[in-house]
Amino acid sequence: MPVFRKILYLASLMTVCSILLGGCALTNPEPVTRTSFYFDTIIEITIYDSANDRSAADHILDECMKIAAAYDSSLKPGLPLSEADSETAKLLDTALLWQDRTGGAFNPMLGTLTSLWNFNGDPPGPVPAMNQINEALKHTSVSDPESLIDLGGIAKGYIADRLKEKLISEGVQSALINLGGNVLLVGGKPDGSPFRIGIRDPNDPSGNKVIQTVNVSDVSVVTSGVYERCFEENGVRYHHILDPATGYPADTDVDSVTIISDDSASGDALSTACLAMGHEKGQALIESLPGIEAMFVLNSGAFIRTSGFPD
Ligand code: ADP
Ligand code: MG
Repeated sequence: MPVFRKILYLASLMTVCSILLGGCALTNPEPVTRTSFYFDTIIEITIYDSANDRSAADHILDECMKIAAAYDSSLKPGLPLSEADSETAKLLDTALLWQDRTGGAFNPMLGTLTSLWNFNGDPPGPVPAMNQINEALKHTSVSDPESLIDLGGIAKGYIADRLKEKLISEGVQSALINLGGNVLLVGGKPDGSPFRIGIRDPNDPSGNKVIQTVNVSDVSVVTSGVYERCFEENGVRYHHILDPATGYPADTDVDSVTIISDDSASGDALSTACLAMGHEKGQALIESLPGIEAMFVLNSGAFIRTSGFPD
């Protein structure tokens, strides 16, 4: 990943953190944070209720980072179905449910296609040849043994859910898991008040501008945007969420989608799917799913929230 992009991610992490720390009372125990680089992004886990026992919190964070490292090597895109281990196969089953519910906008079998697009390269690009894209498009179905798995649209959410389980099993009641903008909260702040999470403005190149804040506890807040992992060629911007029908970046009226949900795997799949579906279909889907809310930032700069989206 290019260094400038790492800095951008770091900057966006810092936006979230400064907002969070701003509200902490001095009497609260010191939060304990660990930052690392996995899944091609900066990840950060902060325990807020360490009860001044820093070494216990450090140990829990060590364990969490070991879990992240293991998934980092096991969930690489481009695996044939025949080589998937049982956990990958189970996650794929969940992802296929989302393929069904999103009318195919979310497709976890795009590995032949995503391996052509070099979004994570340094530099990223170029745009693949059209005949290569058309060839790859022939193998994007789970029933085709030539298709390759790519769980990139749901994996970080799934892993965040596993990390939350680990934190809870260790007795942690207040924490924030941030996997490159994919945020999952454990409880609220130590004083019981909600966390304040900033949603970044997709059109601000610095990545520091917050377009909206939400006060929430214990939920997942996941954003997918056209500003992430993109490159420009001949004045056209190519971003990393592909339309499974065309093989090219989804060209919709949406610049970013934020999903609030209990589990982060659902939020992750839905943020990717809604970006590919556009706001009308995406909004209808989210309104049909109980307990899940969304905010769409449109190309026009306007933003639209589903009926139960928190303040
Ligand atoms: P990020 O990884 O930046 O958080 P997303 O969660 O939105 O972003 O997932 C984007 C990733 O999902 C891509 O890098 C690719 O691996 C995969 N992907 C791209 N298009 C689709 C799609 N239509 N359906 C499912 N997965 C996709
Ligand atoms: Mg996603």
